[in-house]
Amino acid sequence: MAYSYDDQNIFAKILRGEIPNKTVMESDHTLAFEDIRPQAPVHVLVIPKGPYVTYDHFAGEASEAEIADFHRTVAAVCRKMGVTADDGPGCRFISNAGEDGVQEVPHFHLHILGGRRLGRMLQKAE
Ligand code: 5GP
Repeated sequence: MAYSYDDQNIFAKILRGEIPNKTVMESDHTLAFEDIRPQAPVHVLVIPKGPYVTYDHFAGEASEAEIADFHRTVAAVCRKMGVTADDGPGCRFISNAGEDGVQEVPHFHLHILGGRRLGRMLQKAE
């Protein structure tokens, strides 16, 4: 099976400028913006501009330029939001994929959560 990308997903609409967003940072291949339903004082979503469904899809098929740009943007967002773990309080990176991962939006995104103590990583399944 190969990944198939639905270009009607909400993040594709954000990338096309059809839906507004609160941009934290933008680069050639990457957009970082605030989550509309923040789960923590800092809740930023980082997405590639290309059509990738999940992290493994992106990691397997994106170009080296896209992959480097994405990860450099993650680092810059952490620095900008003051949630690095070297001189700050740290944060959590989450990327949900597919059904078992309970992924809501089928465009790869990395959640950066911070600004409060986050507690245990996983809860029991609903
Ligand atoms: P997932 O469950 O797919 O990992 O997370 C999707 C995230 O996208 C959720 O945290 C949700 O609040 C966020 N989200 C959904 N729709 C929008 C939107 O229109 N704008 C923004 N900024 N975030 C959204």
